[in-house]
Amino acid sequence: MNILFNKMEISVHAEKLVEHSEKHVDFYMKYAFTVFETLQEPQFRKFLHWILRNEKIRQDEVKDVEVVVLPFQKKNGNGLAGRCNSRGEIRIYPKRIDFCRKLIRKCGKKGVHSYIKHRARAALIHELLHVKYLNDEEKVRKLTRKYFNIFTKHRDVQNPDASNLLKMLFKH
Ligand SMILES: [Zn+2]
Repeated sequence: MNILFNKMEISVHAEKLVEHSEKHVDFYMKYAFTVFETLQEPQFRKFLHWILRNEKIRQDEVKDVEVVVLPFQKKNGNGLAGRCNSRGEIRIYPKRIDFCRKLIRKCGKKGVHSYIKHRARAALIHELLHVKYLNDEEKVRKLTRKYFNIFTKHRDVQNPDASNLLKMLFKH
């Protein structure tokens, strides 16, 4: 039951942290802990194991999951929520601090907190599916949406802020 989650850790890359101000480091460390805690929630863990069974993905196909502290910047300037390679190594990345600050002005701190949690869950579901459907982005996106909707169906639905945030997650 817990095999997948014994393989999860926060990866700091201290040599890169020194390029950031103390305030930024503080922000990204807190962000990473929030993500880590969210992904370890028993209810969500149970749900992920159900997905693995449903998709017939073996736990040993998932090598490890790293919650990376600093955001990943693609060459085109866009951020990245997560990555999975052919060895089953999954990486989950944060949103950039400037994005979160803008979002705080729009949705408040509580709203951003809930956005960060939802985004982390969606990213891990997405990358787990890539373990099986490595390059089939379209299928993975469709299934991510399906599973994510099942998970959130009984949570946060009475909260209109949360449903707006969910729309933001899948707008691309
Ligand atoms: Zn993908």
